[in-house]
Amino acid sequence: MHTLTLAGISAGIKARRFSSVEVTQHFLGRIERLNPALNAFITVTADQALAQAAAADQVVAAGKGGPLTGVPIAHKDIFCTDGVLTTCASKMLSNFVSPYDATVVRKLKEAGVVMLGKTNMDEFAMGSSNETSWYGPVKNPWDLSRVPGGSSGGSAAAVAARIAPAATGTDTGGSIRQPAALTALTGIKPTYGRVSRYGMIAYASSLDQGGVLTLNAEDAALLLGAMSGFDERDSTSVDLAVPDYTATLNQPLKGIKVGILKEFFGKGLEATTESLVRDALEVYERLGATLVEVSLPNLPLSVPTYYVVAPAECSSNLSRFDGVRFGYSCAEPKDLLDLYTRSRGEGFGAEVKRRIMTGTYVLSAGYYDAYYIKAQKVRQLISDDFKRAFAQVDLLVGPTAPTTAFELGAKVDDPITMYLNDIYTIGANLAGLPAMSIPCGFVEGLPVGLQLIGPHFAEAKLLNAAHQYQQQTEWHRRIPAGYA
Ligand code: GLN
Repeated sequence: MHTLTLAGISAGIKARRFSSVEVTQHFLGRIERLNPALNAFITVTADQALAQAAAADQVVAAGKGGPLTGVPIAHKDIFCTDGVLTTCASKMLSNFVSPYDATVVRKLKEAGVVMLGKTNMDEFAMGSSNETSWYGPVKNPWDLSRVPGGSSGGSAAAVAARIAPAATGTDTGGSIRQPAALTALTGIKPTYGRVSRYGMIAYASSLDQGGVLTLNAEDAALLLGAMSGFDERDSTSVDLAVPDYTATLNQPLKGIKVGILKEFFGKGLEATTESLVRDALEVYERLGATLVEVSLPNLPLSVPTYYVVAPAECSSNLSRFDGVRFGYSCAEPKDLLDLYTRSRGEGFGAEVKRRIMTGTYVLSAGYYDAYYIKAQKVRQLISDDFKRAFAQVDLLVGPTAPTTAFELGAKVDDPITMYLNDIYTIGANLAGLPAMSIPCGFVEGLPVGLQLIGPHFAEAKLLNAAHQYQQQTEWHRRIPAGYA
């Protein structure tokens, strides 16, 4: 049962081959047995899951319900969940039980989805290896001595290990796509504004987007469709109808123009990864696509631009954690200042503090123009590069990450090297574009991801291109040893 896709589980429930309660019990059993070695979950909501599953079974018995009724999934612990611990993997929120549901959680609940629990992540989604979590690192099921990627590393490890059939994630600079690449999953970050950020704990508000990690493009289409759409509670949410992403998966790709991003094939990209990405390009050629080399000259400036903009926004967003209103409060404060400084000093981890300090610096008088305003200008240049590229091609294709999963601890002492993991993913966030990662091969048993980037609101085209590739290949069906 655990190797089924969401679509497969849904079909099984509809055909009464098994009930939602049976599937849910099966996954809860696997979580109990396999999660201790992976550390993919922060909270498992077994009782609530079984109650939701029983309710879903009644809906199905009454001949009602939709494609997601009774299907279990996991939520990244950045999404607020009513009555359930919501930590963002920080000591700061280690006692925070949310009084409301994020819009994503609410929409999926309304679609009949069962929540198995909340997945581990980098603290406040800051990281690329899931090693900054206050709850400890997550292990990659393909090799337990390696990282699963981050920041949605718990979601990725849970789905790859088949202890959850799918999971939500968030992507500010690559946090859905990079872990998807490192664990052989399909991950999609939609257009900025497509999915509501209400109740999704803010890291860098102009970059953050919710999305999904799944076993294939069909499941991604199903889940993304259910969680997308306008939300009056998020002022950056876009009021545009959500198409049925599953309806266009089988469109032929004949005649589409695929751009090969020249800047993504330079130094820093492992040769073995490059060769698998080039093999994938050949698959697209066989499917009738025309390959065109495209250059985005400002794209190499993505990482430095991001590491001004994201910390600036995070320093502002995280100022709400003051030890007074919610979250961690230090013991016996001497006075108000002591309460603020010790609560924040004790509640935040090292990487979060590094970002807050960087952000406060680039926003300070005297440096604001030199760093923050400059970064905003470069961000616009990067956006303009993408706009020019999409005047020539339908999609852009390249690697998702420069290397396969690295050893735990290998990059923790070197933040700059860690930041370079997102060298290929950050551009799409700066420009607000939809982008996804799909498995395109293995190097010494470790997965490699292919990245597809589309113009604004081209999610259907991306999912279509991913699905067509997955009809020709079997990489996405591989299961790590010991988890089949
Ligand atoms: N690794 C990047 C960072 O640490 C991106 C994280 C993310 O997308 N949430 O900021």
